[in-house]
Amino acid sequence: MRAVLKYVMHTIKTAPQSEVTMTARCLTPGCGWTLAPTADIDAANEACMTHAGRLADHVLFAREWSDVASVRRLGEE
Ligand SMILES: [Zn+2]
Repeated sequence: MRAVLKYVMHTIKTAPQSEVTMTARCLTPGCGWTLAPTADIDAANEACMTHAGRLADHVLFAREWSDVASVRRLGEE
């Protein structure tokens, strides 16, 4: 018996029931400012800019996005 190998195309995207959330952390040494995860990306970015506006040298942030991804085989519904 011979094994039959075939390539199956897949797609991956954010699951319909998932939302994308963002967190941010100020990278200025000694500053512990962090932003709690939020799905409001515009508000998250604005919070970073507000922090930078209050403390002029705090301009670098580590931003992370998170979601739940769903993989689907193409050709299957
Ligand atoms: Zn800071």
